[in-house]
Amino acid sequence: MERGRCYACRREFDYDPADVTMFLVDRATGLPPGITVAGTLRPATPEAVARSVDLPVCPDCVDKAERGLPFGPTTGG
Ligand SMILES: [Zn+2]
Repeated sequence: MERGRCYACRREFDYDPADVTMFLVDRATGLPPGITVAGTLRPATPEAVARSVDLPVCPDCVDKAERGLPFGPTTGG
């Protein structure tokens, strides 16, 4: 098991690297390379993909995403 911080809720959690859901995040924007800060889709540029990293997402947030609930980095509320 490894310990990491959830991309979405920032909670630290233990995960199995072979089993965890990873989220590709552009380090320049903190968002997936194909999504703008406004939440709209755009073509992911090779530059954005190249600087992106895979971050783990905890099971709670995966569950929210699968149910269509909002999830992602939030500053409150
Ligand atoms: Zn989470």
